[in-house]
Amino acid sequence: MPKSFHVTTFGCQMNEHDSERMKGMLESLGYAEAEAAEGADLILFNTCSIREKADSRFVAHLRQAAAHKRRNREVVIGVGGCWAQSVKDQVFRDFPFVDVAFGPGQVHKLAEFLTSDSLTAQGFFEFEGFTGHLPSKRDREFQGWVQISAGCNMKCSYCIVPSTRGRQVDRPLDELVAEVRAMVAEGVVEVTLLGQNVNAYGRAVAGGPRTSFAELLHALDAIEGLQRVRYTSPHPQDMKEDVVLAHAQLESVCPHVHLPLQAGSSRILKAMRRTYDRRRFLDRVALIREHNPDIALTTDVIVGFPGETEADFAETLEVCEEVGFDGAFTFIYSPRRDTEAAAFVEDFIPHEVAVARMDRLVEVIQRRAGEQAQRFVGRTLDVLVEGQSRTDPSKLRGRIPHGKVVNFTGLASPGETVPVEITAATSQTLAGEMSLLARALG
Ligand code: SF4
Repeated sequence: MPKSFHVTTFGCQMNEHDSERMKGMLESLGYAEAEAAEGADLILFNTCSIREKADSRFVAHLRQAAAHKRRNREVVIGVGGCWAQSVKDQVFRDFPFVDVAFGPGQVHKLAEFLTSDSLTAQGFFEFEGFTGHLPSKRDREFQGWVQISAGCNMKCSYCIVPSTRGRQVDRPLDELVAEVRAMVAEGVVEVTLLGQNVNAYGRAVAGGPRTSFAELLHALDAIEGLQRVRYTSPHPQDMKEDVVLAHAQLESVCPHVHLPLQAGSSRILKAMRRTYDRRRFLDRVALIREHNPDIALTTDVIVGFPGETEADFAETLEVCEEVGFDGAFTFIYSPRRDTEAAAFVEDFIPHEVAVARMDRLVEVIQRRAGEQAQRFVGRTLDVLVEGQSRTDPSKLRGRIPHGKVVNFTGLASPGETVPVEITAATSQTLAGEMSLLARALG
């Protein structure tokens, strides 16, 4: 019987992608994926450390794995990802039942450990840029992640990523085009480009000529059969005109930009070391909409950053009201170890104040997103079918090019792109009916 493995993934798309590569690598070593951690020979966690809550949730899972190991001493427990990188060898001191730990840049070292006859626990925490071309076991055959760079050179004062993923290293453009071409040949129609700061791509290419993010978008758009190109996350400071024009000119580049604002007050943006101010952010939004009037804009916002006054927060609400985002991820500031802002203790905002601000922010975001979503009602849009609706099993679920989820009636298979007439819209999702006429007319 092949040995079995189970991977639990926490955090961002980059972690989801790393987990797909972990699974692909383990299957190439002859392991088989198990439904649950219980009963698996190899229990793996791909961890996140972006917020305190991420840590405590993961540790609860780890203790469960320890219980499995007490029942079966042969079980191997491995911890990867940003939390492992942020605490390094402390993993083994705090959790002596862990056998192997590795940082986000060391996924391939797991294979080395598993194929070695090492009996002692091992940790791998070097930064080696992009770690090898590992086989990837995609969750969906028609959608794929593509890591275009590793690490980040920015110094946002609240962020632990530069210390857990290292400095920015970009993959050569030709290598990325070849990888995407191979994915399309395997049936992928939509790719999402991943990087901590994707639009800074091209300045730190390892083993290739300097290039740019816009050049990459143009090169991918030329690939026959690739319907959709998405990317996350860009940085407002690097949202240059050539990328904005690429959205207007290139059919496969989806009309959606996720542009993290974080705060509306220039004073707080400075304390966050975000390198742009309120004016610059709004200027980028104006430029994007000038060339792409129908584009979807989503964002990230942190409330309760140390020192945030009521006036600062009011500016965050003003910017969100003015821009009218199509959606947003909203977070309460969480101090992260070894980050600059974690030392701003005197200025920490009481939790109840931050929670109250979060409620007011969510009200503005959802109201404006609901208003924005009405522009889709009555239009027939191409929907990439992802599967059965999560809210109504009699319906299908998919996404329009703008990124919004649609639950719709119709007959189609996952991976198909079908025309859907949008009949209703909320801040979160759209409703629709597959247009048999549009489909018949192709
Ligand atoms: S750009 Fe800032 S927030 Fe984003 S990963 Fe880099 S340091 Fe963190």
